Amino acid sequence: MIASRQTIPAGGISSRAVAVFLCGVLGLGIITLAGNVQAASLHNAAHDVRHANGFACH
Ligand SMILES: [Zn+2]
Repeated sequence: MIASRQTIPAGGISSRAVAVFLCGVLGLGIITLAGNVQAASLHNAAHDVRHANGFACH
């Protein structure tokens, strides 16, 4: 049996947790930027993606 074990340094944060956190920050940043940008084409593209994914918006 092959078991993968990730060693976490004492008192530290695992690199996986850091990666998950950074991906979340990046994703929220992209959503915030695309949702609030004033360029009509980028805003419309973000709007279409929102509808395509089933998010309620209006
Ligand atoms: Zn809409």
